[in-house]
Amino acid sequence: MAPSGPGGVRRRCRRVLYWTPVVFIGLLLGWSYYAYAIQLCLVSMENIGEQVLCLIAYHLLFAMFVWSYWKTIFTLPMNPSKEFHLSHAEKELLEREPRGEAQQEVLRRAAKDLPIYTRTMSGAIRYCDRCQLIKPDRCHHCSVCDKCILKMDHHCPWVNNCVGFSNYKFFLLFLAYSLLYCLFIAATDLQYFIKFWTNGLPDTQVKFHVIFLFFAAAMFSVSLSSLFAYHCWLVSKNKSTLEAFRSPVFRHGTDKNGFSLGFSKNMRQVFGDEKKYWLLPTFSSLGDGCAFPTCLVNQDPEQPSTPAGLNPTAKNPENHQFPAKPLRESQSHLLTDSQTWIESTSNPGKGKSGMSNPALTMENET
Ligand SMILES: [Zn+2]
Ligand SMILES: [Zn+2]
Repeated sequence: MAPSGPGGVRRRCRRVLYWTPVVFIGLLLGWSYYAYAIQLCLVSMENIGEQVLCLIAYHLLFAMFVWSYWKTIFTLPMNPSKEFHLSHAEKELLEREPRGEAQQEVLRRAAKDLPIYTRTMSGAIRYCDRCQLIKPDRCHHCSVCDKCILKMDHHCPWVNNCVGFSNYKFFLLFLAYSLLYCLFIAATDLQYFIKFWTNGLPDTQVKFHVIFLFFAAAMFSVSLSSLFAYHCWLVSKNKSTLEAFRSPVFRHGTDKNGFSLGFSKNMRQVFGDEKKYWLLPTFSSLGDGCAFPTCLVNQDPEQPSTPAGLNPTAKNPENHQFPAKPLRESQSHLLTDSQTWIESTSNPGKGKSGMSNPALTMENET
């Protein structure tokens, strides 16, 4: 057996602790099944028609809820592809360079053929010191997973997983089906809940289950509906939770809607082109998670419109165009509603000479 110090034991304990919220949800779900299907439907309901209808609808929602929850938990988050990792020579060069600007030059050269449009707040190439890679747009380092996660949304303790490009659709469906599950239980349990207050229920353990089932379903419905509404708004604007809190910074300035392509295309980016898959927790999001089309004008002349070695148009060439030509000024809201910031290509450090190391400016990520 491999020796493990106190650090290893702590890490293992932490890993077990991280599963606590998932176990809690699992137990709650198990109890809700017993309370609804057995105690409410089979024991309390007298009408056969009502019984059958409720049981069929309940099992359908239960299955979709468990399926999407399962997929959100067990779909591994995607990490940047090898094109974004520095080569051995580049890593050595980076370590050798003492100055921030020289290091930035190494990174700029390494990022030359990559489809990167976002920068750090100080205008530097986004680099993850820990993973030693150039961060693709919308990618962030998760301190819990200790990895760079593509299109990271947030690290969710309720699924003990990072919600990002690989499972964001599953997470949305999990919210939707769990909300429907709770609303359905609350709605069909309501008349039996009222019966309790009018002493219409027999004084058995059924009473306990019917009351708590209603309270739990109503309480979760309220919190889930606000979270689901928030994520629907994020999808419609093509933002991640992290981007909603801190707008992405592009080479030419900050733009809170930099990735938004309009409602329909934003929806399709997450759910895919084929509507028949929209409600199923199967992967159908567009793209590869490393490159995203933007609505920006004044594309960086140094960057290619499509990455070498990457093929973001593979799934749907029509919807994954990287703007090869700048849009006209009149077509862009960028010039009107976001702060612009002009950066000289020949002197990217301009105006920031007081910074000790702009090249390796790390973002304070969650
Ligand atoms: Zn990282
Ligand atoms: Zn994470």
